[in-house]
Amino acid sequence: MIHVTVWNEFRHEKQDETVHKIYPNGIHQAIADFLNPYNDISVSTATLNEPEHGLTEDVLNHTDVLIWWGHAAHGEVDDAVVERVHDHVLRGMGLIVLHSGHFSKIFKKLMGTSCSLRWREGDRERLWCVNPAHPIAAGVPNSIDLPQEEMYGEFFDIPAPDEVIYLGWFRGGEAFRSGCTFHRGYGKIFYFQPGHEEYPIYHDSRIQTIITNAVRWAYSPVKLAEITCPHVSAPEDTMK
Ligand code: ZN
Repeated sequence: MIHVTVWNEFRHEKQDETVHKIYPNGIHQAIADFLNPYNDISVSTATLNEPEHGLTEDVLNHTDVLIWWGHAAHGEVDDAVVERVHDHVLRGMGLIVLHSGHFSKIFKKLMGTSCSLRWREGDRERLWCVNPAHPIAAGVPNSIDLPQEEMYGEFFDIPAPDEVIYLGWFRGGEAFRSGCTFHRGYGKIFYFQPGHEEYPIYHDSRIQTIITNAVRWAYSPVKLAEITCPHVSAPEDTMK
């Protein structure tokens, strides 16, 4: 069983009527709803306003894959929680960072770069698969037309990804590395660009398949119990 926690800052859905109509119970619940029917996946959700943002040590100890959606309130995420999530990723927890989560504290910390990009609202996107043999692309059409999506453009300031699986093309002519994988420690990370809150992206079955595939890909059965200093824990007689 893969234990997934879907984390969302859950602000736009409560403050913006357009977003509320698309995601009346929040983006996190919409994502949980399409993952829930699978027998090999068990889903729970967590949001910013909960104590410790719903990401306590106990919750993370029981999370195999964490999905992250944030936008307006990156700065409100407590540094101690970011540190905790970072530790769990290095020890083997998978992380899927969606859309504007590119600028979250946790993604920037894991990447070590600014993670900035260019953007413009009100475009359309064609998502091209450039790695069709990858498990994240399984069962998904080679190109996906999204009639409404925010434009994200290069330069996307990330380190060279381990794999690029999707490239986004926009009406304005821009291109973007829309689906990228990274490894950090024992943890697998997938960044996926579609998902602007004003459009029903997470109700699209093709997008749902990609995210579901990513959950299974990011799951690792191997996790470290803790990360300790090898010098401190080495036997005293090592040099004798
Ligand atoms: Zn957006």
